[in-house]
Amino acid sequence: MPELPEIETSRRGIEPHLVGYCIVNAVVRQPKLRWPVSAQILSLKDRQVLSVQRRAKYLLIELDGGWIIGHLGMSGSVRVLPEPIAPGKHDHVDFVLSNGKVLRYTDPRRFGAWLWADDLSDCGVLKHLGPEPLSDEFDGEYLFKKSRAKKTQVKPWLMDNKLVVGVGNIYASESLFESRILPTRPAGSLTEAECGILVAEIKRVLSRSIEQGGTTLKDFLQADGKPGYFAQELQVYGRMGEPCRVCGTAIESEKLGQRSSFFCRRCQK
Ligand SMILES: [Zn+2]
Repeated sequence: MPELPEIETSRRGIEPHLVGYCIVNAVVRQPKLRWPVSAQILSLKDRQVLSVQRRAKYLLIELDGGWIIGHLGMSGSVRVLPEPIAPGKHDHVDFVLSNGKVLRYTDPRRFGAWLWADDLSDCGVLKHLGPEPLSDEFDGEYLFKKSRAKKTQVKPWLMDNKLVVGVGNIYASESLFESRILPTRPAGSLTEAECGILVAEIKRVLSRSIEQGGTTLKDFLQADGKPGYFAQELQVYGRMGEPCRVCGTAIESEKLGQRSSFFCRRCQK
């Protein structure tokens, strides 16, 4: 599943090909996605792109007079084609640009979305989202305050978008390992110092992935290649039974809040 680093890498990849140009129109071959493609997108005509932003895992394309809100769902990707080429089976939406290029959305499982908002402040999907993990607002003090008296296990708690956005399953397991905190601990048991370490590790793990993404996906302008999601050097995620890279103890896995969680019982307390 594309996670926050992949979305941010996608944003950086497509931004220079879009900003300052017009979206001439949108070619929607499959409007039945997670939610139906918004009518305003189906009838889009000659709107200039002012910026390409991201909030949580949403791509926000700011146009002259409105916003396109894209979500890549479970299996979606976007790339920029240098010119229109024949679509494949899973190429559901093309945004045709005035520079001759095409922003193409591909999604085998169709859990993505392309929505419209006149104004971001009244956009339902963006309401109630917690702070961005890489923002200054998300710091140890914030996490400590929010964790008081919380009995929820720390890993599913971290993955709640109302607390902080974009800490997906891989990043929650990895940052808890780096912080030496067991994922099963009640959030309320975290000390202020642990909250500071955890926030720093979440930022570091996500930033490193974004950097790697930038080098893995060198060019978003490719006619045939698909921007694949990047393999990373993982400490615990997906490594059940394999030796911990720090102490050699076998990595364990447990389902917490329906999600597989990986940890080293010796390193993490
Ligand atoms: Zn270990």
